[in-house]
Amino acid sequence: MSINIAIDGPAGAGKSTVAKAVSAELGYIYVDTGALYRTIALFITENNISDENIPTEIKNADVSLKFVDGVQKVFLGDRDVSGLIRTPEISMEASRTSAIPAVREYLFGTQQKIARENNVIMDGRDIGTVVLPEADVKIFLTATPEERAERRYKELSEKPDCPCYEEILSDITERDHNDMNRPVAPLKQADDAILVDSTDLTLREVVDTIIRIINQKTGR
Ligand code: C5P
Repeated sequence: MSINIAIDGPAGAGKSTVAKAVSAELGYIYVDTGALYRTIALFITENNISDENIPTEIKNADVSLKFVDGVQKVFLGDRDVSGLIRTPEISMEASRTSAIPAVREYLFGTQQKIARENNVIMDGRDIGTVVLPEADVKIFLTATPEERAERRYKELSEKPDCPCYEEILSDITERDHNDMNRPVAPLKQADDAILVDSTDLTLREVVDTIIRIINQKTGR
């Protein structure tokens, strides 16, 4: 039986950075489910699909994940779109379209299949609550909106056309609101998830905390 670790939490909490580091140390596959929702958002945008046509058109999306040296790449058809999905426009479109039940249903099976076949650390919004309710370990990773915006600002400030801190904070707040208030699979801490608040912790401290929790729970 594969070992499944779920890490959920709001945008910018550091889930992917932490999950990548933890999976490298433990030798698990890291699955970034946000990338799947982003790729669907790209498909919808590129093909100008209206919301009412999503349920019928989504089956043509052909989204898949490949793992190259443990690093996840996301494909739309045979096109590697791993870089293309990392724009603020796609972030917002993913946040909006992920509330559409047909989008969540379409990606549900993809996520469950990967978890069945591999030892995974899977991050997202509804992994511990909906996708992998039987996960061996569930973590809810969070930080204050201001701290999350500050981190993202530092990350982006070296790039040209960097959005200002206020803009990033407002995007994060809007995505939190969308993710927590949608009727299907809203972002929330699973009853049996362990809360890790990273606001005052370094990356190393968060990684160590999570590895300790995983080792305790899986008896390593
Ligand atoms: O994690 P990331 O910010 O890349 O996710 C993009 C968007 O995809 C989120 O704002 C959220 O609306 C959606 N998402 C989701 N469920 C997941 C992962 C992501 O609804 N498991």
